[in-house]
Amino acid sequence: MKKLAAGNWKMNGNRAALAEVAALLAAHPAPACEMLLCPPTTLLSQMAALAAGSALQVGGQDCHPKASGAHTGDISAVMLADAGASHVILGHSERRADHGESDALVLAKTEAAIAAGLIAVVCLGETEAQRDAGDTLAVIGAQLDGSVPATATSANLVLAYEPVWAIGTGRTPTLAQIAEVHAFLRARLTAHIGAEAAKTRLLYGGSVKPSNAAEIFAVPDVDGALVGGASLKAADFGAIVAALAAA
Ligand code: PEP
Repeated sequence: MKKLAAGNWKMNGNRAALAEVAALLAAHPAPACEMLLCPPTTLLSQMAALAAGSALQVGGQDCHPKASGAHTGDISAVMLADAGASHVILGHSERRADHGESDALVLAKTEAAIAAGLIAVVCLGETEAQRDAGDTLAVIGAQLDGSVPATATSANLVLAYEPVWAIGTGRTPTLAQIAEVHAFLRARLTAHIGAEAAKTRLLYGGSVKPSNAAEIFAVPDVDGALVGGASLKAADFGAIVAALAAA
């Protein structure tokens, strides 16, 4: 499987930020890994136009479970695909916290994304309190069980392990903790989708930066990264892409 470096711009970036995409593509025209950026929806079609014919794929950060209808402010998976998206991030901890998203809602969104032909990047992760209580694997297992649909395959699903306490904090789990969770995810996913699980990309996310990318990418069962802050600058994200391509 080709590894995946995915960037989540969150609610950051205006049209001027598209210069970073041009710089990224100039520096990394053909990396030996997949490259994905998920900008705010306002930039999606412009970024997709810039990325057309290049190694860069473009994705959304959320979608509604329905294809269309009276849902003011929401965007459907069909609309993301129409705007040029190949992927969509679902169940990010910021959406679970800010919008009260449940596993059941993430499951419905994942089904909608797959039905629209998108690759769903489903995020899972424990809070600091859950880790301190020794509940990490139970929490992540329940999230996986509740949000991975029966239709999932290695071609339409990516899982991202993102400890909530590591997102945007500069803190990361130990390499042994990452290895433990990723091995657990691989086994749990196998119970759902069988042999496809071995080919499904499992990303680590949470304060990945150029200085720690190589050691994280050397951890078994880490097939790439979901990167927040460090995906906003071409130099930083490009360094992470290069580390993954060399892993
Ligand atoms: C994220 O929000 O998915 C993330 C990993 O953020 P950061 O890299 O900034 O910790």
